[in-house]
Amino acid sequence: MELSDRQEKIIDIVKNDGPITGEKIAAQLELTRATLRPDLAILTMAGFLDARPRVGYFFTGKTGTELLTEQLQKFKIKDYYAVPIVMKEEASVYDAISTMFLEDVGTLFVVDEHACLTGVLSRKDLLRASMGNQDLTDIPVHIIMTRMPNITVCKREESLMSAAKKLIDKQIDGLPVVKEADHGLEIVGRITKTTMTRVLVELAMNEQV
Ligand code: ADP
Repeated sequence: MELSDRQEKIIDIVKNDGPITGEKIAAQLELTRATLRPDLAILTMAGFLDARPRVGYFFTGKTGTELLTEQLQKFKIKDYYAVPIVMKEEASVYDAISTMFLEDVGTLFVVDEHACLTGVLSRKDLLRASMGNQDLTDIPVHIIMTRMPNITVCKREESLMSAAKKLIDKQIDGLPVVKEADHGLEIVGRITKTTMTRVLVELAMNEQV
């Protein structure tokens, strides 16, 4: 976050003289306590300062990067995942390509009769299958998909950072968000590189972070 000149001054005062009360900070800046209240609230919420009753404000010693990392760890998959687009195993490669265009997604998930995850289809999987001379309506997706147990998944409670790391480590574009079910893993959502880009933009736009 971008700090105002006054907020920078407050941090300097607290660094030098903390723990220090709000009244004393206000006196040094020749301002009223009321004028200072929003700045102190912002600095405390953002983690630069900490406040103890009857003691006053003190400097936490955390740098902007440390605070940003702390903030990022709080972002959970459950707050950001998108609707998953799924296909049945018997659906044809032709249907999968049509679905990708219609739904405007780059990764499709394949499910069995219990609606549990069995495979993943990426753009390149479908391109590869389209390169021969076969009739694409005759090839079921289960023949060409990446299948369980080789699928990297994530869970609702995990942090977004952990999902981002999986995308990078495995060099893939998307992850199914799953939950344990009687017959396997049920798909409840998807996390993609687009999710990560959206979060980055939100973070940059949100001055309170
Ligand atoms: P593209 O193939 O369009 O570049 P990806 O990089 O996502 O898209 O996919 C690369 C390969 O990894 C594909 O064969 C795909 O089936 C597979 N894949 C995609 N997502 C996953 C996943 N979550 N777990 C395991 N394999 C995946």
